[in-house]
Amino acid sequence: MNHALSKIRAIRGMNDILLESGGLWEQLEDIVRVLLNSYGYRNLRTPILEHTHLFKRSIGEVTDIVEKEMYSFVDDLNGHSFTMRPEITAGIARAVIEHNLLYDRSQRVYTIGPVFRHERPQQGRYRQFHQINVEALGFSGPDIDAELISISAQLWKKLGLKNIRLDLNSLGQSEERSLYRAALIKHIERYTSVLDDGKKKRLYSNPLRILDSKEPLMQEIIRQAPLLSDFLGQNSKSHLKGVCQRLDSLGIEYSINPKLVRGLDYYNLTVFEWISVDQQGTQNAICGGGRYDGLIELLGGKPAPAVGFAVGIERVIYLCQKGAALKQIYACEIYIAHSGENAERFAIDIGELLRGKGFSVIVNAGGGNFKTQLRRASKSGARIAVILGTEEVSTQCATIRFFNPSNQEEKKQKRVPLGELVQTLKSVNDYD
Ligand code: AMP
Repeated sequence: MNHALSKIRAIRGMNDILLESGGLWEQLEDIVRVLLNSYGYRNLRTPILEHTHLFKRSIGEVTDIVEKEMYSFVDDLNGHSFTMRPEITAGIARAVIEHNLLYDRSQRVYTIGPVFRHERPQQGRYRQFHQINVEALGFSGPDIDAELISISAQLWKKLGLKNIRLDLNSLGQSEERSLYRAALIKHIERYTSVLDDGKKKRLYSNPLRILDSKEPLMQEIIRQAPLLSDFLGQNSKSHLKGVCQRLDSLGIEYSINPKLVRGLDYYNLTVFEWISVDQQGTQNAICGGGRYDGLIELLGGKPAPAVGFAVGIERVIYLCQKGAALKQIYACEIYIAHSGENAERFAIDIGELLRGKGFSVIVNAGGGNFKTQLRRASKSGARIAVILGTEEVSTQCATIRFFNPSNQEEKKQKRVPLGELVQTLKSVNDYD
């Protein structure tokens, strides 16, 4: 193919977020920031590129992500292998260790940004997607697990999302999982004749992941498999009970899903997932999280317990677009059209005046007669055009025209003295 002539397109699975959606993203991020700040979570940003071994060591060598989904490359200049982050927790744990952030205190942090996984793109599954990542580091009790779950529940509420279900499970500690692993392998080995090569391999490398399988045959095999909950010790059980009691007292509904294992190796004890009940298929998870008490030590830090969750922004925005609290954001509320001597300067001054009063305002640029300018005004989504001609300048007035008038009064174009302009515009209702 002649690349010089062919149209250059975005990489498959990596999407442009176009203007209308951009407004929704900004609103979502604003809601998230206000909510997290109100709980004392502070923003921590880590690089998108990290050393490949950070992810291999933390996520686990025998996981879908590390085996086949990472965007890794060797830097020709120094021979190092780097990876575009396939999740954010590992980078945060690295940063916390590197900057000694847990030296004398626990930390509540969050980050919002892109994540990269080489998956098969489809609705709700992309190769570049975005996450809100919330982490509480240095806390060991079930109280903080419940705090995080409650924050996520409040986020759905603020976004007006309904029909979201919470699944909860405990993965116990690694010794408990080893015993369970052996029992699970023994159970599934009875069916090896019907397993394909991939499953046979996975059976010995990461059998817990088989519990995640959506294939009918596997589901049948799994249905009769032993349960991890039967292998949990007293401490693990009481941690889960502590989380459940707190959720009960907060009125947050959940169901214990003994098959919920999550895809990464570093989790222990509490794991949870929020699922959109209305969505079919495997792309229905909008948020996943859990405890990772061993990760910081595994990465070379002083042992410290931690717990966190990640929200998939694209999936949440998709649900919001289907009728939740976020509203469509237009380029501006007010478009100022101007023509004639001194009108441009008059328009600029009025633009500044109105912005200072909280309006979003576009002042026409690029000339054109009033007809052309009003066409631009209408396309901008503005509710009101402020029209300034020679007469308005000389009499220090502004003419106001409403697009999509909502009553008889608004149907008429009207002229108001400059001193009354702000008040007149303020009396106009917000977008509904
Ligand atoms: P995970 O840690 O894989 O459970 O990811 C956390 C959240 O990110 C999920 O609950 C999804 O909402 C979202 N997510 C994961 N993978 C993708 C993807 N390939 N495309 C879009 N969103 C994703």
